[in-house]
Amino acid sequence: LSGSTHPVGEGNAVIAGQGLAPFDLATGPLVRAALLRVDGDDHVLALAFHHVVFDEWSDRAFQRELLALYEAFRAGLPDPLAPLGIQYADFAVWQRQWLSGEVVDAQLAYWRERLTGVPILELPTDRPRPPVRSTEGAVRRFAVPARTADALRALSRERGTTMFMTLLAAFDVLMSRYGGSDDIAVGTPVANRNRAETEDLLGFFVNTLVLRTDLSGDPTFTELLARVRETALGAYAHQDLPFEQVVDELVAERDRSRTPLFQVLFSYDSEERGGGPASGERGDSVPGALPDSLPVKFDLMVSLGEDDGALTGEIQFSTALFDAATIERMTGHLTALLEAVAADPGRPVGALPLLTAPERDHLLRTWTDTTATLPPVNGIHELIAERAAARPDSVAVVSGDRTLTYGELLARANRLAHLLRQKGVGTESVVGLCLERGPDMVAAVLAVWQAGAAYLPLDPSYPADRLAYMLADSGTSVLVGHREVAAGLVGADGPRTVVWLDDPATRTALAALPAIAPRVSVLPLQLAYVIYTSGSTGRPKGVQITHRGVLNRVSWMQDRHRLADTERVLQKTPLTFDASVWELLWPLSTGAELVLVEPGRHGDLDHVVELLESRRITVVQFVPSLFKLFVAHPWPSALPSLRAVFCGGEALPVDDVARFYARNATAVVANLYGPTENTIDAASTECPRPHGTADWSPGGLVPIGRPLTNVRLMVLDERLQPVPVGVAGELFIAGESLARAYGDRPALTAERFVADPYAGDGSRAYRSGDQVRWRADGRLEFLGRVDQQVKVRGFRIEPGEVESVLTAHPGVRSAVVTTWGEAADRALVAYLVPAGPVDGIPAAAELREHLRRSVPEFMVPTFFTELAALPLTPNGKLDRAALPAPEASRPEAVAFVAPSGTVEELLAGIWGRVLGVERVGAQDDFFELGGHSLLATQVVSRIRDVLDAEVPLAALFDRPTVRSLAALVEGSARTTVRPVTPVGRDRPLPLS
Ligand code: AMP
Ligand code: MG
Repeated sequence: LSGSTHPVGEGNAVIAGQGLAPFDLATGPLVRAALLRVDGDDHVLALAFHHVVFDEWSDRAFQRELLALYEAFRAGLPDPLAPLGIQYADFAVWQRQWLSGEVVDAQLAYWRERLTGVPILELPTDRPRPPVRSTEGAVRRFAVPARTADALRALSRERGTTMFMTLLAAFDVLMSRYGGSDDIAVGTPVANRNRAETEDLLGFFVNTLVLRTDLSGDPTFTELLARVRETALGAYAHQDLPFEQVVDELVAERDRSRTPLFQVLFSYDSEERGGGPASGERGDSVPGALPDSLPVKFDLMVSLGEDDGALTGEIQFSTALFDAATIERMTGHLTALLEAVAADPGRPVGALPLLTAPERDHLLRTWTDTTATLPPVNGIHELIAERAAARPDSVAVVSGDRTLTYGELLARANRLAHLLRQKGVGTESVVGLCLERGPDMVAAVLAVWQAGAAYLPLDPSYPADRLAYMLADSGTSVLVGHREVAAGLVGADGPRTVVWLDDPATRTALAALPAIAPRVSVLPLQLAYVIYTSGSTGRPKGVQITHRGVLNRVSWMQDRHRLADTERVLQKTPLTFDASVWELLWPLSTGAELVLVEPGRHGDLDHVVELLESRRITVVQFVPSLFKLFVAHPWPSALPSLRAVFCGGEALPVDDVARFYARNATAVVANLYGPTENTIDAASTECPRPHGTADWSPGGLVPIGRPLTNVRLMVLDERLQPVPVGVAGELFIAGESLARAYGDRPALTAERFVADPYAGDGSRAYRSGDQVRWRADGRLEFLGRVDQQVKVRGFRIEPGEVESVLTAHPGVRSAVVTTWGEAADRALVAYLVPAGPVDGIPAAAELREHLRRSVPEFMVPTFFTELAALPLTPNGKLDRAALPAPEASRPEAVAFVAPSGTVEELLAGIWGRVLGVERVGAQDDFFELGGHSLLATQVVSRIRDVLDAEVPLAALFDRPTVRSLAALVEGSARTTVRPVTPVGRDRPLPLS
């Protein structure tokens, strides 16, 4: 024993030092002692033992014997202790002999059977898990009242369990709720002194057992108790095999980021904590001797003990993973759970409440109490009409070199509204819109509303079948279009009445109609627009949005981000995306200027940046994958007019915002989140300057934020109970923003728009399918989907819809569609099992053509990978993790054919740089080289710049090889194809 004495004053530091200083295992000693004089005869003896020679049981024996000796020697008596029968060394020799052969085999077989396939307990952490486990930790303490403890003791007696088992069962429930799993493995220490001879020995006997409990099927707590009892008794019967040996046998590959087999340790000590009645003579244990920061061996280490009838507990936790506040909340949840179990153990475990009353109030009220009054109108277009009446001569719309004043815009819209009324359009009619971006498009939206109807945006590049389906499904009676783009829409199934705005006869007819609005009013819950989104069962669904939803969304934006009538907003989002709605209506309802990008050029960053500069745009919107490219794009200046950038439609990386802030000093980036079913957006947050990160982790995602006004957000579990802060749940959205329904789909509507469990007034909530969690600051974090829906560059896709088209091809037996990669590089991938074993899957070009007959271009996969069979998990489900990387089996581009002639060579060069491909052949397919619509817009703009030729975007989809596109470019009568020297424009493309 190496000992030293210390003067008063260094007290706690010395004690802590005793505990933390390392031991030298090679030379020893493995015990350290320090005696501190507190006052006169009052002393504190601080002892530290290495775990390899000592355990908790030893500690008790040691204290008992030390005090016995102390008292005896003080009184001048001889050593009162009986001599030991055996020593630790004797036990070690015995154990080595006994634990061999059949004994070991039987124990190993037990653990192998119990622990094969044991899942990792994925607790929601506050910070990303470091690749190598950190041992830095801290501790939080809590207490369970005696009343609850008594009831738990009574329950244990009644069910034939120990208190440990009862407490563990409750803890399993807590871990299951936090980790979102019903297969929970928890470690627990056992004294491992089940032989009388070992009871009084000092030394390391303790072993660790893994208690794996099945919580599936939502058992009642008493049923769960029986399961835990069985688990624990089985484990005790096989407790001799050292844990290290179990790990060696069962764990093939060690993961350095976490402990093997279990990540959380749970223990209960049935002996009084306080050390019995205090007596100055006998020495009390030092209160608070355990420091607040200490090394930890697991993600969490939870221990409960008896304390004068009540229970006290502590949670030691890894500070690399958790904030103290999170653990504090966790102790509250464990206590709440224990109280609920004590009160009624017959409840299903999924129904046991975790939340304390104030927490529940916060989650369901405080954080989502967002009431705001709306402007006293029924539709947003009424505000625009007011603007036009007040300031008819101010500029409303700028499109190329054309401008429209508010007065002109309203006159144009009103005339068209009269024409629509003449064609039979009225309340609740649906009017299809298929127009090039321009003043007509803006006027047509207003006209539909002035006529009391709703609009359905149509993209002429969609397959004819799909457009026909949408027209019929929505009950569209009248189509307003530009013949140049929409002529194909008027087939046998098309609408009976068409208004071609580019037809001279229409212009004449319109000119004769009054410029004042028809006497029509709308009601707040009347239909404003219908937007179709991908449907998982193969049919797209029409989301019906009301005027009140639109009014609420735009009013929120004006309250929160206040647009002055001197500002300019860029309009670039196609009407088929609901984000276009605020882009159009926020500026027009506030008297600002709307600047339109040229038709087909919304993804062309050169054009967009040019407009931002020359038009001194103040507000612009980007889908995050385009924002990433925008941030990397060369700008001529730092864009000093810009004051707000809105991002939405998919997850926004923190790093892109930080990069943007480093280049532009004026604008604030805001993240917008929301499903189409919820009138554009339901939540939002701004990214604070200067770094856009605040406490948001670099490499992570910007939170989706707090609810918009008059919107309520709830994060619920499967039983529709609110989940605690930090724990993942599904986002439910309620309030003014809710869509009315999916048109003509009552079953689907009922499935997604459910009764709001917390409104109590019969109103509904939308099940978003998004997995989110609350942060402690009241913002939401986006975690992913609970279903298979994906986003590719902002396009919402149900893989099931693509799969159903693919399996309809006779050459395909089964198909799985998913995504690969991130952000702008994220691609849709199809895995296909061929119908016959001999032929393999159809050629990619054929599959593409097949798909293009039913789905829009963005739903056509970039890669088609053949599989002999779909990989399955042991229980027969698709094993997504086992799907191979698409690159590995990407179809080889056709044999390289060198481009010939200037145009082909220039085109191949453009493709190479846009696609980041070194050598592009004349016959290579744009899509097989990894091309997609976002890149196609870049190719089109390069062609304009480098070849001085206009090609429509659709041309690339029709003719996706260099050679066929070259033929089009050369044959184009409209343009003289001549390569232009790209002065100052020949810069590297963002993707290369
Ligand atoms: P959409 O109906 O096209 O607006 O798609 C809605 C879906 O896109 C949501 O349910 C989310 O899955 C995703 N989404 C939209 N905005 C965001 C955002 N800001 N962050 C993360 N995901 C988003
Ligand atoms: Mg949205």
